[in-house]
Amino acid sequence: MSLYPEHIHRMTTASMLREWREHGGKYRLEGSRCQECGEIFFPRRSVCGACNSLRVEPYRCARTGAIVAISEAANPILAGMGYGETMPRHMVMLKLDDGIGLASEVVDVLDPSQLKIGSRVRMVIRKHVRESNLAWQYAYKFVLED
Ligand SMILES: [Zn+2]
Repeated sequence: MSLYPEHIHRMTTASMLREWREHGGKYRLEGSRCQECGEIFFPRRSVCGACNSLRVEPYRCARTGAIVAISEAANPILAGMGYGETMPRHMVMLKLDDGIGLASEVVDVLDPSQLKIGSRVRMVIRKHVRESNLAWQYAYKFVLED
């Protein structure tokens, strides 16, 4: 058992360019909005998926939403790679209040019975993965709303 209950580190080399490109998405939950038809997207995209317009602008997604599905299984990919989990993780599908759907993790769950379809959540920034240079990357996750 690990002395420090922290998440596994990434197995590949850190890409600072990729980090920079995805910074807005991971830290500010920033997607895209089409200036032609108003459709919103997350993760961000450079072409509208609804009308193919190139006039897309950064869009700040809603910070609150509700759980629409809960992953029952432990993470099979991590388990297959030989990593034991150091803490239970609660992966869910969410629908934000602006209609954006995404997969994320609910953290700080003291009572797993509170995790239900329809439970309200809000975004927080938390440690995500540790890079091979030992630097922590942070990213959005969610906590249950009071
Ligand atoms: Zn559009």
